[in-house]
Amino acid sequence: MRSSIVLFGLLLAVFLSFPVLAASGDNDRPRAIEKYLGEFCAFERSSTIYQAIENVLERMPSKDFLNVTDRRRPVIFTEFYDSGTARFASSSEFIVMPQDAPCCQEGFTIVKLGLSLGLSKTKEPIEAVVAHELAHRVLDHIRKGNVNCDAERRSNALIKKWGFGKEFKEASRIFGQKKGDPAGCQEVPPRSSLAQPKVQ
Ligand SMILES: [Zn+2]
Repeated sequence: MRSSIVLFGLLLAVFLSFPVLAASGDNDRPRAIEKYLGEFCAFERSSTIYQAIENVLERMPSKDFLNVTDRRRPVIFTEFYDSGTARFASSSEFIVMPQDAPCCQEGFTIVKLGLSLGLSKTKEPIEAVVAHELAHRVLDHIRKGNVNCDAERRSNALIKKWGFGKEFKEASRIFGQKKGDPAGCQEVPPRSSLAQPKVQ
């Protein structure tokens, strides 16, 4: 008698949890990430950059994770060489296997990660860089033509919302723009505009 009650309880639990799992489409994320990166990432599993990508995909909110790993419009992770002779040109090859489902019907995003990221001894600053690029994609900055400092700040704000505040600080310290670099965007408005705060 006791065992049948346990069994009934178990069946009920399975029944109740099934629709939730089926609806989320994200019930075994580590496995989904492994499969996804096996197809769309040029880095070796043993590399720090691969592990940083894996961690970011693991920690993103479900909706955004499903967005950036949608094989109709995947994010492709590839390297770029920022030193040595390969900095002039290099190629990455993505091989489609017969068993792979079709992809890219709605285009794709290429996230190019400079090999100088490897200068970081730890994964955290690389995670901030990866998260920042994925935030651009989630916010659709490139397709909407928003390539400016405001877009940079919005991406940084989104990754802080995702929980990468500490990693962001670390990345700013290690990879931050040098003073006077024309490509640099200020994280906060200049002092003069801070002097007269606007009330909204
Ligand atoms: Zn950016």
